[in-house]
Amino acid sequence: MYVPNGAWGITLLKEKLHDIKILRSLKTRIFLILLIVGLIPCIGMRYAILKNYEQRAVSVRTSDISTQLKILADHLITYHYLQDTSSEVINAEIDQLSSLYDGRVLIINGDLRVMKDTYGISETKTIISEEVVRCIKGESTSKYDKENGYIEMTIPITETISVGSDQTTVTEKKDVVRGVMLVSASTDSIMATMDILSRNAMIVEVIAVIGILVISILAAKALIHPFEKITEALNQAQEGYTNDPISVKDCLETEHIGDAFNRVLSRMKLLDDSRQEFVSNVSHELKTPITSMKVLADSLITQNDVPIEVYQEFMSDIAEEIEREDKIITDLLSLVKMDRTAADLNIAQVDINVLVELIMKRLRPIAQKRDVELVYESVRPVTAAVDEVKLTLAISNLVENAIKYNKEHGWVKVKLDADHQFFTIEVADSGIGIPEESLEHIYERFYRVDKSRSREIGGTGLGLAITRNAIIMHRGSIKVVSEEGVGTTFTVKIPLTYIAV
Ligand code: ADP
Repeated sequence: MYVPNGAWGITLLKEKLHDIKILRSLKTRIFLILLIVGLIPCIGMRYAILKNYEQRAVSVRTSDISTQLKILADHLITYHYLQDTSSEVINAEIDQLSSLYDGRVLIINGDLRVMKDTYGISETKTIISEEVVRCIKGESTSKYDKENGYIEMTIPITETISVGSDQTTVTEKKDVVRGVMLVSASTDSIMATMDILSRNAMIVEVIAVIGILVISILAAKALIHPFEKITEALNQAQEGYTNDPISVKDCLETEHIGDAFNRVLSRMKLLDDSRQEFVSNVSHELKTPITSMKVLADSLITQNDVPIEVYQEFMSDIAEEIEREDKIITDLLSLVKMDRTAADLNIAQVDINVLVELIMKRLRPIAQKRDVELVYESVRPVTAAVDEVKLTLAISNLVENAIKYNKEHGWVKVKLDADHQFFTIEVADSGIGIPEESLEHIYERFYRVDKSRSREIGGTGLGLAITRNAIIMHRGSIKVVSEEGVGTTFTVKIPLTYIAV
């Protein structure tokens, strides 16, 4: 796979950062974010203020010098200084200017010759710098050299002359550049002020950094506190100190975590309760036949000279109890198998008509024994993807119940139908029916409407639980309609093709 260089770099950086344990802490992250968010404007502001001051100070100084130089330029023309540099007034003025701005003043005439240099180095020399040449053409220049700490300016020395063809015509005024003033003024005083400003800003900045640091630590602590509280509450719940629901109402997020955990906890509690109930039911159900057997065996042991007929009767009772115990264990094993995941299903294309017919054939003797008519109606041939063993068990339980909980001369009708998506098996009987209040419980493990009657006819209370689990594993549904004394109809609906999720 092609990964762009930049993206790869970011992924690598993310991985590296993820490896640093302290950066994985939310507290550290909040602290760092607040610190950065606080520091950037602080540093930025200091830089912007200093830069702004420098620009303003240089521009004020430049315009100051420019004004002074323009006045001086006029004086130079008035005193014909470019022709004769001996004027004491002008020389004093030039010296005063150069000392005022702690700089150097050069007066250059129209031939680019230096007439006066306050440093006395370049006098009589010729200067051919770009700025001077530009200035001779009438253009003032100014340049700020930050590194060396000075402002360099050129100002043209202009003379206004009258132009006219003769004395009768109106004369025209014209500026003629006679020379150039080249001045370099020191910016040390600006720098000194900037140093002071920078130092003050630094002090303010250090105070601000300390303030931001303290605020960031406190804010990170305060923001994480609810999460620490919820972790503590979860730990307590896990260690079993409390069964109370968790409630940390400090912020919405922790409230949501608490609610979600409470929901999980109550679901787990429900599961635990139902498991405990199941275990106690299993123990009870398994114990009943054993207790009966013990009573029967004890009464045989304690009696002397028991007639052989009594022996036989008691032993056949014991055999019946063993059979019952065996049935409970078989049903429990089936139920456990049905409780497993769908991965345990052995799906194959099965002819459902053949499957139902086989069930009917196997159960017909029981129906005959109880004088119940067993009718099978198949609307159309049906082939579906099912687990043959599990579906047989589910349907057998329904038909067996319909026979077991029936009346004398009653009937059981099994009907198979299908559409393009599902097949339905309807098991209807003319039996005793199920009371309305029991309908919602019949799929519970070990639930029986009439305990003694169910026991009498060999029920374990696990049949419908097994049936329901098997149908759900096939992504199907089961419905029941019943009326006491009239009969019951179970309708099972299963998809023709098995959809694995
Ligand atoms: P059992 O092993 O007791 O039959 P089931 O789980 O198969 O257990 O059924 C639970 C209870 O539902 C039964 O004890 C019975 O009271 C009631 N029941 C199930 N099917 C029928 C039916 N067709 N007619 C009347 N009652 C039924």
